[in-house]
Amino acid sequence: MLRVNNVHKSYGENEILKGINLEVNKGEVLCLLGPSGSGKSTLLRCINHLEKINSGRIYIGDKLVGARERNGLLYEKNEKDICKMRVKIGMVFQNFNLFPHMTVLENLIEGPVTVKKENPDKARKHAQELLQKVGLSDWAERFPKQLSGGQQQRVAIARSLAMNPELMLFDEPTSALDPELVGEVLTVMRDLAESGMTMVVVTHEMEFAKNVASKVVFMDNGYVVEEGTPSEVFDNPQSPRTKAFLGSI
Ligand code: ATP
Ligand code: MG
Repeated sequence: MLRVNNVHKSYGENEILKGINLEVNKGEVLCLLGPSGSGKSTLLRCINHLEKINSGRIYIGDKLVGARERNGLLYEKNEKDICKMRVKIGMVFQNFNLFPHMTVLENLIEGPVTVKKENPDKARKHAQELLQKVGLSDWAERFPKQLSGGQQQRVAIARSLAMNPELMLFDEPTSALDPELVGEVLTVMRDLAESGMTMVVVTHEMEFAKNVASKVVFMDNGYVVEEGTPSEVFDNPQSPRTKAFLGSI
């Protein structure tokens, strides 16, 4: 479903991703852990083509979405191809990023109607089903600022799902939330995982990673330093960096 092959990414002189390899099969949940500055968000942004990579290849399904060779440019996608590809990938950020001037329901139907040219009635029906899924049916006519952070994040997840993505990327979706609101968001994410969605989740929620991940990847300083099943990585970490990180939290 997602393959990242030897991806390098620099900002100026600063190499942030130093040859990343990852593979996520359909229906798998990959949890990405690592200290601040290790390159986790940068990697998600490269997968979603919000950033251009300097070398390597990224495949979604069998489609090459980003590719550059080290000594020259290859297969650079044009904007139209990038948009088409991005529609298949949902992304949820730390800070919800809902459209503040639209109701919850309008937030959900905006993308399907304007980007995918879906019939508005069909989009509305789908939106209502999704709001039910995330437990917010009664909040459809409210505005984002009338909702708690946990509710807003559940709307943000539903809004991504409204586009029928094949892959969902989450970048620390609960780290801006008050502790008592974290659980409701993780529950929605766990349900989504159980429904078979392919997911890449950057998180510091170790219990979530232990219980939900198919695979855990630990990044440090632009490298993947460890990967395995949750029990391999949590119960028997091999790298000293992983041991130190897990010991510190
Ligand atoms: P955190 O856990 O704090 O979110 P992270 O693992 O997500 O960290 P990134 O945000 O990917 O880390 O950042 C990795 C490095 O890249 C950092 O040193 C950061 O300063 C640098 N960086 C990120 N974005 C840019 C940018 N647009 N321009 C220059 N440097 C950047
Ligand atoms: Mg980050």
